[in-house]
Amino acid sequence: MAKIFCIANQKGGVGKTTTAINLSAGLAKVGQRVLLVDLDPQGNATMGSGADKRTLTHTVYDVLLGSVGVAEARVNCEKSGFDVLGANRELSGAEVELVGLEARETRLRDALALVDAEYDFILIDCPPSLSMLTLNGLCSAHGVVVPMQCEYFALEGLSDLVNTIKQVRANLNRKLQVIGLLRIMFDPRITLQNQVSDQLKAHFGDKVFDTVIPRNVRLAEAPSYGLPGVVFDPASRGAKAFVSFAEEMVARIQR
Ligand code: ADP
Ligand code: MG
Repeated sequence: MAKIFCIANQKGGVGKTTTAINLSAGLAKVGQRVLLVDLDPQGNATMGSGADKRTLTHTVYDVLLGSVGVAEARVNCEKSGFDVLGANRELSGAEVELVGLEARETRLRDALALVDAEYDFILIDCPPSLSMLTLNGLCSAHGVVVPMQCEYFALEGLSDLVNTIKQVRANLNRKLQVIGLLRIMFDPRITLQNQVSDQLKAHFGDKVFDTVIPRNVRLAEAPSYGLPGVVFDPASRGAKAFVSFAEEMVARIQR
């Protein structure tokens, strides 16, 4: 049975997709079988893993609407080391199309149940909103990984996400929990970032992951080569941090 985690934060540009791709690659590198589900119509996780969103025969959109299963729609990204259930712009229509359908919040969960034995981890890259798509992600998952930058307004958005998670837990998915907060794009030379990081630890204790992902340009360059940073430049600081993070995740779920 796979452990299923959403990478979520309703803010855009905080490093969700970078985390989804590189945690997937890091987990693969330490021997885990991984499926990455792209739930963002931008399709950045798809492209950054090495699948071409423009030429995919099937995507997560078809899976949500029930025309194909995950087994038919997924693709293997060999160089990256994991499978991807891709997304493209078509997915933005799903929001409206799902409204009229039965069990609209649990369509992804039900679809993933059929392949879950084939993986150790299924990671879901969520869009920057608390929409029906994100809700499908949260209903499918055991936990949520929240990437965040240590900036002044970081804590503000967090309470909305935490409330949404509480509501989903109360109404739709009793097992859902926050696995942890991941500090990303961290620059230790910036005093403010250290202060916010200390605040995070004071408020959230061991829900803050030990691993910190530094700001590292190789992580930002890698997607244009269709590769995770972890594969594109394994010696870079960003890549090493994500492999450590993968090890921390594996250790956490064994506790
Ligand atoms: P989100 O999915 O939350 O919108 P992204 O993962 O797309 O965020 O990241 C936003 C931007 O920041 C992208 O251009 C990405 O390449 C860059 N980025 C993310 N993490 C890092 C990092 N650790 N170092 C440098 N750039 C990063
Ligand atoms: Mg993204």
